[in-house]
Amino acid sequence: MSSARNKNYLREMNAKKVYHPMAHPNDLEEHPPRIISRGEGVHLFDDDGRRVIDACAGLWNVNLGYSNQPVKDAIAQQLADLPYSSAFKGTTNEKLIELSDVLVDMLDQEDMRRVFFTSGGSDSVETALRLARQYWKLSGHVDRTKFLSLKRGYHGTHFGGASVNGNNVFRRVYEPLLPGCFHMPVPFDYRNMFNESDPSRLTDLCLAAIEDEIAFQGADTIAAFIAEPVLGAGGVIVPPETYWPKLRALLDRHEILLIADEVITGFGRAGAWFGARGWGVKPDMMCLAKAITSGYFPMGAVAVNERIETAFKANKDAMGVISHGYTYSGHPVGCAAALACLAETVRLDLPANAAREGDYLLSRFRSMMDTHEAIGNVRGRGLMMAMEFVADRKTKQPAGKTFMGAVGDAMFDAGMLVRIVGHNILLSPPLVLTRKDSDEIAAAMEAGLAKVS
Ligand code: PLP
Repeated sequence: MSSARNKNYLREMNAKKVYHPMAHPNDLEEHPPRIISRGEGVHLFDDDGRRVIDACAGLWNVNLGYSNQPVKDAIAQQLADLPYSSAFKGTTNEKLIELSDVLVDMLDQEDMRRVFFTSGGSDSVETALRLARQYWKLSGHVDRTKFLSLKRGYHGTHFGGASVNGNNVFRRVYEPLLPGCFHMPVPFDYRNMFNESDPSRLTDLCLAAIEDEIAFQGADTIAAFIAEPVLGAGGVIVPPETYWPKLRALLDRHEILLIADEVITGFGRAGAWFGARGWGVKPDMMCLAKAITSGYFPMGAVAVNERIETAFKANKDAMGVISHGYTYSGHPVGCAAALACLAETVRLDLPANAAREGDYLLSRFRSMMDTHEAIGNVRGRGLMMAMEFVADRKTKQPAGKTFMGAVGDAMFDAGMLVRIVGHNILLSPPLVLTRKDSDEIAAAMEAGLAKVS
């Protein structure tokens, strides 16, 4: 097949035969997705040979970039040794055991004791919600079944995750979802229902709303609160410094479990090894995925603390059986990939690099506000950043869809792949970013902005 024919064939088949996540099938012909052919370092190449810097790191996950040889070697070796083995009762594998030990060690500061492996972030959220329900059944509090979460939070697309999801786009067409899920105000200082920009007062208002909901529902009906330490897909929302410590204290007063959804923030993206650690907080469970294998293999995990472990230990009957799991839980290739990824993350000290390059990029982006009126807000923590666009800075009226479409195209033309979500550019480049790469991102941003303003 000639390469021109091959290209036409691929575009036609993609439009005709594929259902893409988060896309309308009827839109594929008019707005075909870019076909990505190759990755090298922090750059991607499309099928026209165009080279762009990947300022999304895939979907917040390719922290090591696309060329990490130790990870590729570990995967190849594991494929040769043992390409699959089940972790259901009766069998286990060496890499799974080794990885459990490494992870529990890494999470020592959070007092995590055990890990349960999954195939990705949505599985991890589903697992944590189920374990929370089971924990309360084992503890004799059978009415503690409800969940609290944040508006604008994102927790994947399983029915449980969608139920605690704080964005209606992911909920409406799949309703009815789980009953007993309640969504609390988001601690976002740029836009919030209280019109409050002071971080400390905003924390108190948000926590008062949670306290009020707990009183209304009855604490003895609530199983857990789930939230992202820094909200990702909802627009990179960084809560005030006081929010997480005060949230933990409030939940403790009512004995409600805290689940940290660290699918994005785990392993350094927000500049600390884990998002909760960055806030100085110990959750009861932590959902992990994405960077655990840097996108080189689908994989996730849930870590649980002593409180959860003790409830299972104390139980001797069928109620304590974890009647949940995936064919690919503890997949040996995934575990081998994760072991190599985590070793690389330690060796390269990527959380520190995320903090350093994130601070640098944020200050570069903030300075662009002086010349570009359309930028309403720039925010971030580590290498999770957002640039929010407005039609009017005073009223904060969001920029329109056509403008944002033009922004996305202008960035690609300037040599950078970004994610446009609503009226935001979300940026989450690989954590192996060098200062030269950061400068390339800032230059592409300047060039892209110059085109649309
Ligand atoms: N939780 C959070 C915080 C996420 O950002 C995501 C995905 O972006 C998920 C859960 C779902 O993960 P996955 O897409 O791997 O199922």
